[in-house]
Amino acid sequence: MATMSPSTLRIGYRYRPGRLAPDYDAVVIGSGMGGLTTAALLSDLGKKVCVLEQHYTAGGYTHSYERAGYEWDVGVHYIGEVGAPTRTRKMFDYLSGGDLKWAPMDDEYDRFYIGDKVYNAVAGKREFRENLVRQFPDEEKAIDRYIALLDRSGDALSAFGMGRGMPPLAAAAISPWLAWKRRGAYRRTTWEVLSGLTDDENLIATLCGQWGDMGLPPKRSPFMAHAMIARHYLYGGYYPIGGSWRIADTIIPKIQAGGGEVFTYAKVDEIVVEDNRVSGVRMQDGHLIECDCVISSAGVNNTFKHLVPEEIASRNGYLRELETVEPSLGHLGVYIGLKGTAEEIGLPRTNYWIYPSHDYDGAVDRFLGDPDAPFPVVYVSFPSAKDPDYENRHPGTSTIEIVAPAPYAWFEKWNDETWGKRGDDYEVLKAGFGERLMDVLYDKVPQARGKVDYYEVSTPLSTNWFGGYQEGELYGLAHTGERLEQDWLRPKTRIPGLWLTGQDILTCGVTGAMMAGLITTMSMVGPKTMGPLLKRIYS
Ligand SMILES: Cc1cc2nc3c(=O)[nH]c(=O)nc-3n(C[C@H](O)[C@H](O)[C@H](O)COP(=O)(O)OP(=O)(O)OC[C@H]3O[C@@H](n4cnc5c(N)ncnc54)[C@H](O)[C@@H]3O)c2cc1C
Repeated sequence: MATMSPSTLRIGYRYRPGRLAPDYDAVVIGSGMGGLTTAALLSDLGKKVCVLEQHYTAGGYTHSYERAGYEWDVGVHYIGEVGAPTRTRKMFDYLSGGDLKWAPMDDEYDRFYIGDKVYNAVAGKREFRENLVRQFPDEEKAIDRYIALLDRSGDALSAFGMGRGMPPLAAAAISPWLAWKRRGAYRRTTWEVLSGLTDDENLIATLCGQWGDMGLPPKRSPFMAHAMIARHYLYGGYYPIGGSWRIADTIIPKIQAGGGEVFTYAKVDEIVVEDNRVSGVRMQDGHLIECDCVISSAGVNNTFKHLVPEEIASRNGYLRELETVEPSLGHLGVYIGLKGTAEEIGLPRTNYWIYPSHDYDGAVDRFLGDPDAPFPVVYVSFPSAKDPDYENRHPGTSTIEIVAPAPYAWFEKWNDETWGKRGDDYEVLKAGFGERLMDVLYDKVPQARGKVDYYEVSTPLSTNWFGGYQEGELYGLAHTGERLEQDWLRPKTRIPGLWLTGQDILTCGVTGAMMAGLITTMSMVGPKTMGPLLKRIYS
């Protein structure tokens, strides 16, 4: 297996106006999975694409970073549906030219600590069912009805994706059919659906144990968002060998092969619109890149509140539309480096989800009202244990990552300060959260005690800093039922020449953003051009 040198972690080409080609066919804002997928597919169709990334490295939430001799991922812990030649796997293979490889996690890929009880999810539909029946022997009927519901929700999910990918007129023409396929899927909450199947609150909590993967607990999330996540991980979790940065690293060559480039330190200040048509982008340094085709993967809030001039966003109705959606919650991250390998310390290839009780929504409410209340969920991931290549890059060490929710508002007052220089009071607040999260870790992973060599804490301000999310949103727009109903969240905008892609137009997750890239490309080039490309991807 190839060993990846950590010095290659910073990927992309540093932006300088003199390094730009004069004749790009398309400009993509943001190098996350949505932007890179769109850029790579357009490149394959013969377009010269310029990707502009404000951060120092490419990849968006799939980037990794290195400090103190350790390496962490910021927005990838596990990906589903890549252990077999599924549509997802074929797409990753196509984009990466087969260079991106996957390592399976343990069969028990998620473990849920719910109060003083422990439940889990195991890989494989049959195994998942049997494991649940073992844990809840009186609930066999409810479990079977749940799995049947997950199967049926596939229709609603495909109808949702199809509706987003089709031109508005075509989508309108088949809208009764789409609505029938999606019947009720947006408005019924996860809690309503599951409490219709069983009264066992621990079973409901176990089924919802992955709510953090889309950011809304069961009384706030539409069942469809729940089903999307549950189906995605039903056959287990996989980790990109070499670290999540390998995702962008293996896709960029496709963009370069088409004559394009991915530029870093390349912050776009404005999408320039003349006569209600896109004519280019203005960079933070004032340089104008002229291009009549701009694809924004920077999130819809950024696009319409910060990049498109206010008068144009307003005239096209986008400022009003933005009132129908809300940002997802922010998060705290703890990035931990340990002396000793994952094997020596006994770190698992299983994610831990730690909950104070089965009342997930109540715990969120209590915490949002009082930061000293118990964390409503603490997620612990062991990336070096999942990555068979980690030891080659960082011998004798291992890593752990912790994620917990936290609203942006608690940190907002330091927003104008520079990263690393936000002052003592900010550091004290951060350190307090970090210590509490480390205590949660030691409670469940006592063998880590005494092995921790380094750790640091991130806040929603960090997400704002490296990802450009104005309110430190964990997943872009919150996955509410209202959001899923918004037909304007689609690739084609009302401003000719401006297209959208990324998690906001479909759903969160690396796969959600990747599929958004696919439907954006499809919307841009039309079915006739896309047909042969789809054949190449899915043959
Ligand atoms: C803590 C955490 C854990 C997660 N875990 C998982 C997981 O285990 N599995 C999974 O599938 N998903 C996970 N996700 C979600 C997943 O990472 C995202 O949904 C997905 O990667 C989003 O891709 P995107 O392309 O839409 O956006 P992003 O990756 O956010 O890309 C947007 C890019 O736009 C850039 N940008 C913004 N403004 C500008 C500008 N003005 N000029 C230039 N560039 C700009 C940003 O810097 C960023 O790079 C996680 C997310 C988080 C935060």
